[in-house]
Amino acid sequence: MEKLVEVAQMTESALTKKPSEERLSDAEYSILVELVTQMAAAYPHQELGESLEILLRGYEILAIRYGLCRVKNVLQQLLVTPGQKFFPHPSQLAEALQQMVSNEYRQFLKENPYVSCGTCDGGSVILNRDGTPWDHRSREQRYVADCVCRIKWRELARRFKEASS
Ligand SMILES: [Zn+2]
Repeated sequence: MEKLVEVAQMTESALTKKPSEERLSDAEYSILVELVTQMAAAYPHQELGESLEILLRGYEILAIRYGLCRVKNVLQQLLVTPGQKFFPHPSQLAEALQQMVSNEYRQFLKENPYVSCGTCDGGSVILNRDGTPWDHRSREQRYVADCVCRIKWRELARRFKEASS
């Protein structure tokens, strides 16, 4: 246990010298170190040694990208995954995090499905070249465009995606 904290501190001091790199806040980093320290006890088959530093760094980058909360959840899931006898490699964690984010997006789409405003044709409107509504009596060429309801919904989905990655 003490060794883990020592390595973590070493990692931290090494990183301080490279301010350009992505880093968690001190408070969040402490939480991550504590989590990994607790987890070490759950993987008695593995001698960590120097590889811990690399693992921690990988976990930290993922925590910055996906959020510490998600990293914590995925690590806990892996803890009870059958056959998982070793500390999860950051790439394995990254895969699980990607899966988690895409599940969240699927769930979002399920809860916020696109609903037509009722005046358009399933999100499409027919316009004249100048953007005014096309009239069937006119002989103008018609253009199909996205209705505002469709544009707004797409924007909502885009913002959700942006906020979650
Ligand atoms: Zn509409």
